[in-house]
Amino acid sequence: MNETMLKFTDIDGKMPDKRHAQKRAQDFGEIYGDYPSAQTKQQASRCSQCGVPFCQSGCPLQNNIPDWLMLSAQGRTREAYMVSAATNSMPEICGRICPQDRLCEGSCVIEQSGHGTVSIGAVERTLSDTAWEQGWVEPIKPQREHTLSVGIIGAGPAGLAAAEALREQGWQVTIYDRHDRAGGLLIYGIPNFKLDKKIVARRIAHLEQGGVKFKLNTDIGTDLSFEDVRKQHQAVLMATGVYKARALALPGCGAGGVIEALPYLINANRRELGDKVEASTAHGKHVVVIGGGDTAMDCVRTAVREKAKSVTCLYRRDEGNMPGSARETKNAKEEGVQFKWLSAPQSLHDKDGHVTRLRATRMRLGLKEVSRRQSVSPIKNSSFDIKADMVIQALGFTPENMHTLCPDLRLTRFDTIKAHPVRFSTNIDGVFAAGDIVRGASLVVWAIREGRDAAAAIDSYLSAQMAALAAA
Ligand SMILES: Cc1cc2nc3c(=O)[nH]c(=O)nc-3n(C[C@H](O)[C@H](O)[C@H](O)COP(=O)(O)OP(=O)(O)OC[C@H]3O[C@@H](n4cnc5c(N)ncnc54)[C@H](O)[C@@H]3O)c2cc1C
Ligand code: SF4
Repeated sequence: MNETMLKFTDIDGKMPDKRHAQKRAQDFGEIYGDYPSAQTKQQASRCSQCGVPFCQSGCPLQNNIPDWLMLSAQGRTREAYMVSAATNSMPEICGRICPQDRLCEGSCVIEQSGHGTVSIGAVERTLSDTAWEQGWVEPIKPQREHTLSVGIIGAGPAGLAAAEALREQGWQVTIYDRHDRAGGLLIYGIPNFKLDKKIVARRIAHLEQGGVKFKLNTDIGTDLSFEDVRKQHQAVLMATGVYKARALALPGCGAGGVIEALPYLINANRRELGDKVEASTAHGKHVVVIGGGDTAMDCVRTAVREKAKSVTCLYRRDEGNMPGSARETKNAKEEGVQFKWLSAPQSLHDKDGHVTRLRATRMRLGLKEVSRRQSVSPIKNSSFDIKADMVIQALGFTPENMHTLCPDLRLTRFDTIKAHPVRFSTNIDGVFAAGDIVRGASLVVWAIREGRDAAAAIDSYLSAQMAALAAA
């Protein structure tokens, strides 16, 4: 063990500087910066270089974290980046938006021993940003070009990660997406203050330069049929994400001002991208967001930046049971969001057809459910009212009906695509699936992992096809 490491007893853990809450709430700029170079080394040197690295097991990509932390601590930044990029198609994105407290950092041994985790995500982000600035991100240069091609439906992180891996192997890749920009939820879901859109655009440009073709504004099922895509390519990857919003079924929820989370976030993201869209929709309003996941946190913080009069998050369980990242909840609190824990919506009330008030009921926690969160039940006669002239429903997403796209596709009882757990093949020969449409609404890092795994399986599938063609 070299002397650079194991400094966790001498050096306190520190996140990169965060912009002051009042200042950052005025704009949509990212709230964290990168570490200065000396601090990256210091923070990386806190790693205890465990023989069995639990951080690596906690990372869905099984990133070789102790190695790149050691290289960073030694100032071997380029090598550190190469090791981190070997297992991650978008380290600069994961470093920003992974809920590290639930993944790598939550599993860090020095966190468990009470010394505070190594800031793995922040080091990963700083390393990758440096690599882009220094021109160390290698262009995609396949050693040989093949004629066989892959059609990928969906330009979210699963589709993009698969595209890169497949191009590296020399397969021809076309990505179809119904939106006018590639990136999926990276571009139109997650707000700019968590992930600057320039970071996503840079990745897409990198793929384009590497020969990936994008066919945007192309809805498969409307503009082009699934069968057309199959005819044009020898393999197809479905990476369409999940987009059917879970809706409230409450008295009064048809009133004006009661909206869904994703269109609200898309509007805000488009505005930041310079598109001509509706002006700040929450401006001057009392906004109530229902839900406790990442989407709810993104809505409350967007409403703060749109200068809402008040922003309240209503969640039926308590803070410890929230599914979203604890770090993002803390950020929202700092920015002035009010949280009403253990409160479930009961009814919505309007004046002249527009919502004015939400009635909620207090809840009590019960036993743990299969999901490991505690069950809840309403407390009798505990109703209370909240002023609300905009109510945003952020209750999660389920898959759209995939049978409208392809009636033969086998689905699970959750309506996700049934895919092989390792090969990501479906019941249809040559058709693979990855990302949220297989796993259900999840995380970017899981979409990347599955996109990479599916690409490896498609590579084997196409190689076998090529060998068969050569033998024929
Ligand atoms: C608001 C919000 C915030 C989130 N925040 C975080 C976060 O902070 N950290 C994190 O790790 N995860 C977060 N997530 C989850 C994360 O974004 C998803 O898990 C991830 O994007 C899934 O990737 P994907 O490639 O499977 O699907 P998506 O990113 O959803 O991409 C699917 C793509 O397929 C396209 N598509 C769908 N159907 C068709 C069709 N028929 N024809 C053509 N194109 C089609 C869509 O337009 C889309 O571009 C968040 C999700 C939301 C909604
Ligand atoms: S990809 Fe995500 S979980 Fe893995 S090391 Fe990076 S920040 Fe942690």
